[in-house]
Amino acid sequence: MRRATVFLLLLVLFVPVTAAEARRRAKAVDSDAYLAESMPLLLGRALSTERAWEDLIYLCDRIGHRISGSPQLDAAIAWAVDRLTEDGLENVHTEEILVPRWVRGEESVTMLAPIERDLPMLGLGGSVGTPNGPIEADVLVVSSFDELTARAAEAEDKIVLFDVPFTTYGETVQYRGRGAHEAATVGAVASLIRSVTPESLQTPHTGAMHYGTDDLPAPRIPHAAITIEDAATIHRLADRGVVVRLRLSMAAETHEDVPSANVVAEVVGRERPDEVVVVGCHLDSWDVGQGAQDDGAGCVMAMEAGRLIGELAIAPRRTVRVVLYTNEENGLRGGKGYAEAHEASIGQHYAALEADIGSGEPLGWRLDVRAGADDDAVAANWDAAAEHLAPLLEALAPTGAVGLRKGGAGADVWPLTKRGVVGLGLDLDTSGYWPIHHTEADTIDKIDPQVFKRNVAAMTLTAFWLAEQEAPLIAPGQTVQTKD
Ligand SMILES: [Zn+2]
Repeated sequence: MRRATVFLLLLVLFVPVTAAEARRRAKAVDSDAYLAESMPLLLGRALSTERAWEDLIYLCDRIGHRISGSPQLDAAIAWAVDRLTEDGLENVHTEEILVPRWVRGEESVTMLAPIERDLPMLGLGGSVGTPNGPIEADVLVVSSFDELTARAAEAEDKIVLFDVPFTTYGETVQYRGRGAHEAATVGAVASLIRSVTPESLQTPHTGAMHYGTDDLPAPRIPHAAITIEDAATIHRLADRGVVVRLRLSMAAETHEDVPSANVVAEVVGRERPDEVVVVGCHLDSWDVGQGAQDDGAGCVMAMEAGRLIGELAIAPRRTVRVVLYTNEENGLRGGKGYAEAHEASIGQHYAALEADIGSGEPLGWRLDVRAGADDDAVAANWDAAAEHLAPLLEALAPTGAVGLRKGGAGADVWPLTKRGVVGLGLDLDTSGYWPIHHTEADTIDKIDPQVFKRNVAAMTLTAFWLAEQEAPLIAPGQTVQTKD
């Protein structure tokens, strides 16, 4: 009792100054000296600690894949909140967002003729199932939407297979996105795609698809991915006049939207706390593999950047805000919801960073600038921002992330960049990424821990450096180009 009284008295006498408050009280900071001292310090810490790697192992092995609406995504959100809180970040909280809930269920594709064989497959996210029983039909193979149009008369009651070679992700993914709609429009009963990947070891790749709009209706038919190898087999058979007959069974269902959340945490800035550098990723994944590279790695990079910057004795000029978006894969509700919820303070977003392309060798950054009254003004703004970033890229030399090119910063920050915020997407070697993207093979063993540490370092140094800059990357208050 007496001890407790003394303790309470001490609390009254010594109002505790939190570490975070102490960092912000350092007002008279020589910014150049602070940057010169802190950049190597952060680099050394990012490259030497095992903390981020262990976090990624935990996320992958203990929580696993985490599609929107799943208990695993809820677990990942709770874990991230705990982790960021333990690490001493400030204002750790969740921002609720309703997300779609699509459940795959049992599914299969069986070749019935010319030989009987089960084909590895994955239904595509958002697809309807086959509630009235399996669909059995002959296959029409096409290599493009143009070929489908040219052979529309042959498509009635068939399963259309789009055997489209990978060119770029953005181009080839259209067959995943609207293949079912196009096939249904010409009378097909189901559609399949060759998985969207440049190479394969009999691995099917899932991903989002969508049906037509109210203006352009068509029956909703099931849509699934088979492997490159099996698409090629069916195509060879068809080219030789052999009828290929398949049976498709899918129990996929779309349920009502359910609550989920973005996870937000901050290192509050010492001089301009209302101005923010957002460091982001998406915490959801597809319902296969571990979501290790898509996008567990990016999330741990963002969390570790927050932790390491928060451990500095002095806070950077601006606030570094870690945002782990929900539901990128099948809805982008997290990214859109963040931009809508923070609409009033969009002008105070200094830059928005995202890592969402795996964890290959760091190459640099994709810089996305849309502000400017016309194309020339946008180009001039891009050049100005690039010039501003030159000393940062020099400082990133030990990580390898020294390049800068034009490009989208990431799906989750697109709702911000289209409102004029400067976007920066961590640019990585993707040669090992597309082959495992959205598959059972997106597991942590494909990530090199040393390369991952350099990615963590690149993200940390960039977020910190931007948060400390005196001048804006582009002049504020400009009109915005929203073209994609
Ligand atoms: Zn992703």
